[in-house]
Amino acid sequence: MIEIQDVTKVFGSGEGAFRALDEVSVTIRENEFFTLLGPSGCGKTTLLRLIAGFEGPTGGQILLGGEDLSGQPPYRRPVNTVFQSYALFPHMTVAENVGFGIKMLGRPKSEISGTVSEMLELVRMSHLADRQTSQISGGQQQRVALARALAPRPKVLLLDEPLSALDFKLRKEMQLELKRLQSETGITFVFVTHDQEEALTMSDRVAVMSDGEIRQIGTPREIYDHPAERFVADFIGDTNFLKAEMLGREGESARLRLASGQEVHARASEATASSGTVTLAIRPEHADLAPEGEGVLGGTLEDIVYFGTDTHYHVALDGGGERFVLRKQNQPDEDRGYQRGDRVGIRLGRSAGQVLRD
Ligand code: ATP
Repeated sequence: MIEIQDVTKVFGSGEGAFRALDEVSVTIRENEFFTLLGPSGCGKTTLLRLIAGFEGPTGGQILLGGEDLSGQPPYRRPVNTVFQSYALFPHMTVAENVGFGIKMLGRPKSEISGTVSEMLELVRMSHLADRQTSQISGGQQQRVALARALAPRPKVLLLDEPLSALDFKLRKEMQLELKRLQSETGITFVFVTHDQEEALTMSDRVAVMSDGEIRQIGTPREIYDHPAERFVADFIGDTNFLKAEMLGREGESARLRLASGQEVHARASEATASSGTVTLAIRPEHADLAPEGEGVLGGTLEDIVYFGTDTHYHVALDGGGERFVLRKQNQPDEDRGYQRGDRVGIRLGRSAGQVLRD
């Protein structure tokens, strides 16, 4: 529905020119919760601003429903934006804030009051309709900002780190709330965040960005289980990286030799080489501790870190001192009996690792 085709954005000119986006192409589907995820400065906000029309692209084009948006000013686009700063009017009530945008669009009074009630119900704020927005909490202000942005019923809602000002618990709550709002309204959401957990829990699909480029697009599960390259594997979740020798590949199953001399199987995409030295990415929860001498790797336990829900075991691998982290879920009152300095083995589940593209 939103087709972003070879979009480039260069700020400045001459020696000071900076390429914030470099031939970015992605199609965002109708009714999708789509997230742009990446570290600070990777170009997420710039892409959002181009869709909104606050900036024009240096090259490429953006189509909405097949129609080229270039030349259409922001207010003519069926797109609305929610910013990190809610930008509510403090001297107006909650209801007046929600109705403000549609009033400006010249909608009839009867329609405005109906829409405002509906939107307040949607974000569960009906009981505070007459309260000044300076007298409600940050989380409530966020709901009002959402209601205001949804009121004109845009085809697309752009959300630029809208939850980053909220505390941890409220952010978790609002993540579920946003997901619910998106599926109830059927509006396409394009959500920007640098928080990988936020992206995984809320999105239908995620585009991982760095340095003005999209590195990988996929469902949260595809991105987490099958990261295509080291940047993605490293940015999303915790990952162990091991050098390994590729012995052969059949379809998506690869056979490799680790530095320990042991052979393992791992997943590999068709794009990966079938010989030579490669990098293997292994998630901490896909490996198991074993008695010394068992498993495919050996080492010494350096740290045991208790996190409540799980425990992380840091192992210094034999022959080079590379670190390997394992994560095990805790059971009530269970003590696995390991201590720092213990000699251990590491077992990998079959196809636990993913061979990364260079
Ligand atoms: P953050 O998470 O910190 O907001 P981001 O991924 O949204 O980061 P952008 O705001 O899109 O990043 O910025 C991408 C790059 O483009 C940054 O290096 C930024 O400094 C640069 N940039 C953005 N706007 C301008 C501008 N108007 N003029 C010059 N450079 C800009």
